[in-house]
Amino acid sequence: MKPGFTLQVCVIGAGLAGLACAVAASAQGARVEVLDERPTLSAHPTHVNVVPNLLRDLVTLGVAQECVRAGFPYRGIRVLDGSGRTCFELPTPRLAPAGYPEALGMAHADLTHILARAAQERGVALQMQTRVETLVWRQGKAVLGLSGGRERVPDLILLATGARSPLRLAALGCSPAPSCLGPDWTYAQLPRPPGLDHAMLVLDSGGQRAFVVPIGPSAVGIALTRGEDARAMPPVLQPLLAHLTPATPRVERPLLAGLLPAPWHRGALVCVGECAHALPPHFGQSAAQALEDAVVLKALLAQGLAPTALAQRFTERRHARASQVYDIVTDAARSQVSPNEATDLHDLFHRLSSLVAEPA
Ligand SMILES: Cc1cc2nc3c(=O)[nH]c(=O)nc-3n(C[C@H](O)[C@H](O)[C@H](O)COP(=O)(O)OP(=O)(O)OC[C@H]3O[C@@H](n4cnc5c(N)ncnc54)[C@H](O)[C@@H]3O)c2cc1C
Repeated sequence: MKPGFTLQVCVIGAGLAGLACAVAASAQGARVEVLDERPTLSAHPTHVNVVPNLLRDLVTLGVAQECVRAGFPYRGIRVLDGSGRTCFELPTPRLAPAGYPEALGMAHADLTHILARAAQERGVALQMQTRVETLVWRQGKAVLGLSGGRERVPDLILLATGARSPLRLAALGCSPAPSCLGPDWTYAQLPRPPGLDHAMLVLDSGGQRAFVVPIGPSAVGIALTRGEDARAMPPVLQPLLAHLTPATPRVERPLLAGLLPAPWHRGALVCVGECAHALPPHFGQSAAQALEDAVVLKALLAQGLAPTALAQRFTERRHARASQVYDIVTDAARSQVSPNEATDLHDLFHRLSSLVAEPA
């Protein structure tokens, strides 16, 4: 791009992917606007498992220190059976620089607000209650039609609207629906029992699954199957689940998976986050892959590529790696829905760890 030229970037969607990309693009000197149809940023009562590769990428985006302050550092994930016996431990190698923890748990809303604040501090215009109603192509350029009849024709569009947005069809002419891998999971935040300072994955022989991670001195985040009946959960979870009452704020989320086939771009528009790769929550890669998109975007912008070349390079760099992560994580999700002796969770975890140990 010519010296002195300021790239105009429009990000559609203020979820983790859109906000992280806004942070990345503004850090590279772009003028960035984020549009979201919701009245406020998402504040659902869930957690993010900040796995080692996600923490490394938060460092690259310049927001890791705030995340560490807001969250609860932990080391290793204990895998327990329903009676509370530790079967094995999944390691969390340090991928962030010295001085940072290996991994942490934090509230989803805290990560969202940290990214939004960082974006705004770098000059990003965050426009809530602004729905992109239409996307049409005029002379090779995407034209966005906003609620209220306004139009935008930015230099670069990042489509961060999630896995089920009709805009993706308008953008690419193809929008496969994500597959449902199993029953909904329930997410909630509960009081942290004294001494629960590690993450744990409970795999009960009856088929119940739960992941628990501390997210602060007084709270844990929990994701579990069969949340409608806490009494059916394994004994090891009972003290914690005594706090999960009908009044507890919670979110039911379908176990979805969907990988958009390449190309993820057309012209100077590119899909990021769940719009390109919707992952089940296993192994904490859902948010981690969204943040990887932002880190790659930052690196490509630093190369000064023209928007169409950048969009193409983005697909080239992200599609193969996200596909590998997707295959491993969906195998893990399927094996937990229909336990299969041939699927070794330990092996899948190690394959994933060695894959994401290298930056994208
Ligand atoms: C309940 C829940 C729990 C989760 N728990 C975890 C977890 O524990 N660990 C983890 O790693 N990940 C978790 N995730 C997933 C993680 O939040 C996502 O992977 C990550 O946020 C990336 O999503 P995204 O930004 O691509 O899409 P989304 O978060 O879906 O954001 C899309 C945004 O686009 C906006 N939008 C859509 N269409 C339009 C339009 N036409 N105009 C304007 N705006 C539009 C929406 O309002 C929304 O804000 C969870 C997600 C949910 C919903």
